[in-house]
Amino acid sequence: MTNDLHDLLEAAIIILDDAVSGKNDKRDKQVEEERHILDDAVSGKNEHVTLDKNQIKSVELPKPCNGPLYAGWSPANYLCKVVEEIGEVGEAFDAYDRDPGDMEKWGHLMEECCDGIVALTGLMDCLGCDEGARQSFMRGVNKSNATRDNGKRFKE
Ligand SMILES: [Mg+2]
Repeated sequence: MTNDLHDLLEAAIIILDDAVSGKNDKRDKQVEEERHILDDAVSGKNEHVTLDKNQIKSVELPKPCNGPLYAGWSPANYLCKVVEEIGEVGEAFDAYDRDPGDMEKWGHLMEECCDGIVALTGLMDCLGCDEGARQSFMRGVNKSNATRDNGKRFKE
């Protein structure tokens, strides 16, 4: 592991520990605010934000690995899993990039990308960000990306 990556991980772990121990209450407030927005969307109180529960059920959402196998896992363990999976994305990308016509390598790269998404979902879940809150944050990020840079982040 390079020194830069090691330093980055240490900094991330301190931030995570502060968030978990309550020293950093900004995250909890943000999650709480997002939950209110979500609740209002579900109950119909917020006419600008709507939530179609059926739409959520119709898509395959990433499922966090939070079963008995991970009972002793700390946020730092989940963060390390994210780093490990992103490394595997890099390896799979390298293999595909050397042979872009190989659909088996393309499929492996896509599976590793999904592993990365699942690992990040596990980290969020471990930090108390449940499915509803994750959807709410995702909606906020998508909405922000839709309007930034004169709306040129997405295809027409
Ligand atoms: Mg993997």
